[in-house]
Amino acid sequence: MALRTIREYGDDVLARPCKEIKEVTPRIRELVDDMLETMYDANGVGLAAPQVGILKRLVVIDVSPEGDQPLIMINPVILETDGEQTGYEGCLSLPGKSGIVTRPNYVKAKAYDLDMNEYIVEGEELLARAICHELDHLDGHMYVEKVEGELVNNEDLTAPDDDEE
Ligand code: ZN
Repeated sequence: MALRTIREYGDDVLARPCKEIKEVTPRIRELVDDMLETMYDANGVGLAAPQVGILKRLVVIDVSPEGDQPLIMINPVILETDGEQTGYEGCLSLPGKSGIVTRPNYVKAKAYDLDMNEYIVEGEELLARAICHELDHLDGHMYVEKVEGELVNNEDLTAPDDDEE
């Protein structure tokens, strides 16, 4: 495993659509391992492949308090959403910044695991937000396009939230 360089906002790779993964090759497995290591190292709760410069439809997410429940989503698609949540959101590709974004409070998505078996995941609150945020990356979108008001510096937040996606 190895840490990968996280691409930052303004890098063209973050504005491009990603391609579906047809087969889980050893290189894809290595990419997943590296993305998890990179995400945990950066204290993030999610990371999408384009954030490490790879234009493939792959995201990793872990919103568990201990950081021991990785969710690996290959070719993910949102099936249903419900409700609404409004709160601060950050991104590892825009370090030190946050902004207020409204997202669904519930998301149901399908994806493939490393054995290319399809599975369903349902999430509320932070998990729902993380799924929406990461899947946006796969279509070349970043949360800054949805921010209500100004981006703020994390140190200016009254209730600091270290989670970045
Ligand atoms: Zn992000």
